Amino acid sequence: MKRDKECVFCRIVAGEIPGVKVHEDDRVLAFLDIAPLSRGHTLVIPKTHAARLAELPGPDADALYRAVHALVPRIQRALGVPAANVGVNDGPEAGQAVAHVHAHVIPRTADDGGGSLHSIVPRAARPAVSKEDLAAIAARIRAA
Ligand code: 5GP
Ligand code: ZN
Repeated sequence: MKRDKECVFCRIVAGEIPGVKVHEDDRVLAFLDIAPLSRGHTLVIPKTHAARLAELPGPDADALYRAVHALVPRIQRALGVPAANVGVNDGPEAGQAVAHVHAHVIPRTADDGGGSLHSIVPRAARPAVSKEDLAAIAARIRAA
């Protein structure tokens, strides 16, 4: 398992700094966010250090997604809420502050005042795309 001595999440995995844990297995740790967007805001991380999704080995990515899949309904049940946002900020330009892969699980209610993942980019900043643009973008992604 890779580890970065300076990484705050690696330090939580190692028990060097406290984390309020909600789930742990051999590859994954889940703990409550220290500055939650809602009650029960949970971070799910691979125990091995990877700054970015693309650097995460496949088995750890599988384990991460499986843990998210299992935790989302448990978190909703525990907090008594009907919904949650699940997301990863992959890279500083996307808002990633901690350079160790983590999935946010953010419990949501109808009246909490928050938005959806669509609110990440304001309407005015969104690109206009034609059908041809969509086809060209998809072709580039398939070839990448
Ligand atoms: P990012 O912006 O990188 O996607 O999110 C990083 C998250 O980690 C933030 O929501 C922040 O509140 C949380 N965080 C940062 N440092 C700590 C810490 O030491 N402990 C815990 N539990 N959460 C942290
Ligand atoms: Zn780390």
